[in-house]
Amino acid sequence: MNIFNLGGDPGAAAGPASATTCSRKACRADASWQLLWNNPKIHTPDRRKVWLACGEHKEWLEDYLQTRGLWKETLPVDAEQASNSAPTSGGNG
Ligand SMILES: [Zn+2]
Repeated sequence: MNIFNLGGDPGAAAGPASATTCSRKACRADASWQLLWNNPKIHTPDRRKVWLACGEHKEWLEDYLQTRGLWKETLPVDAEQASNSAPTSGGNG
């Protein structure tokens, strides 16, 4: 077991835009969850790495991180998005 493998991203970290694909290797599903984790051996305590997970692999990735004591938090992917939806328009005023 080499815990330092966690320093890299489990998936391909190529495209910053529209990168909401599950971090589980070989999974192409859209991610619904973001797993926040920190490796105290290589990261500062306030640092947060993020893995994305689809519903199917959320528990697998959580277990992977929790087993190693790295897991911090699991949040919905859209949690940090501010409510920016316009009110319904077009009604009779
Ligand atoms: Zn997945």
